[in-house]
Amino acid sequence: MTKPVLIVGAGFSGAVHARLLAEAGYHIDVIDVRPHIGGNAYDHVDANGIRVHAYGPHLFHTKNRQVAAWLRGFGDFVDYTHKVRALLPSGDLAPLPINLDTVNLVFGTAYTTAEQVATHLARVAVPNPAPANAAEYLYAQIGRELTDLFFRPYTKKMWQFDLEDMASSVVKRIPLRTDRTDTYFADDELQMMPREGYTAVFARLFDHPGISVTLQTGFDHSMLGDYSFCFNAMPIDAYFDYAEGELPYRSIRFHTRTITDAPPQDWSVTNYTDTGNLTRETRWDCLPHHIVTETGRRTITAEEPCDYRDNNRERYYPVKTADNRFQGIYAKYQKLSDELSSKLAFIGRCGTYQYLDMDQVINQSLASARRWLASRS
Ligand code: UDP
Repeated sequence: MTKPVLIVGAGFSGAVHARLLAEAGYHIDVIDVRPHIGGNAYDHVDANGIRVHAYGPHLFHTKNRQVAAWLRGFGDFVDYTHKVRALLPSGDLAPLPINLDTVNLVFGTAYTTAEQVATHLARVAVPNPAPANAAEYLYAQIGRELTDLFFRPYTKKMWQFDLEDMASSVVKRIPLRTDRTDTYFADDELQMMPREGYTAVFARLFDHPGISVTLQTGFDHSMLGDYSFCFNAMPIDAYFDYAEGELPYRSIRFHTRTITDAPPQDWSVTNYTDTGNLTRETRWDCLPHHIVTETGRRTITAEEPCDYRDNNRERYYPVKTADNRFQGIYAKYQKLSDELSSKLAFIGRCGTYQYLDMDQVINQSLASARRWLASRS
């Protein structure tokens, strides 16, 4: 009888590995240090009867049909189109990503075609054949005024670094448009939300006779002897006792308030362009099936980014600077982990120090679990 497999972390990376291995006949023990399943995708219904995501809004979007189809096997999903508005100093709400209407609002123009907007942006852009950081990339695409309004204060609040210090890939998550498209993830054709929330999806992922989940249990090196293999989503630097130094993360403090008589709005997230401490707020009732019991009350959560050491070591975002200095530290940990590869693999955002979306985590985890199973057959 082979020993069971240990999975550290009950978020997406752990859940996908657990499910695939259990379906292949393995016995799986999943542990998580938190008191709930779902990792940072965990959601619950609050005292206002509103479903809230405990660790900030999780909007599922992907180009990958296989990933979406696989996930749909674990719950009902409903179509959803995410929209964001940016609150300007004038009090106006501008479409974000920047589009034709955003440009008209900011510059007082009356453009009606994408060509006019493209011509305007080309005129204000600061050409740069090889942008070396997020500032140079944005200046080359949309010029200084739009960059400094929509990206400079927000990025500083979010990362505690200036745009000049951040990798372009961080801001490239946001497309730049010249037409009137006003949806956040228009480039991803599949956008959907779980009808019963993410936590219910995780309950179904773990609902297999081969899987047992134990919460409020952290990893200890002495556990490894009881298992044939370990997939580990814990922070890789913590596993190695910070031998190569600490990998920084941004964390978020959440500020929640209740409103009554909430005006209808067709977007759920409002980004703040000011230089205060908050980056954005989410009106949960504007997400599908998030009013679970009608109380007349609505919940709004504002986000205040901070260093993870100032928030109970809650790690949300790996930090990607233009000089890749933290990826250099991660590479040293990766080298250490190579020596363990016959019995342990690191997975997920904290295990691999990557700024991954949910669909990317699922995609990587499906591939990793299948590779591992193939290597054992
Ligand atoms: N960003 C910004 N202004 C905005 C929205 C995003 O400057 O209004 C930048 C910021 O650096 C942010 C990055 O773009 O961290 C990625 O934004 P996204 O909305 O994808 O962040 P997430 O939803 O993952 O927090």
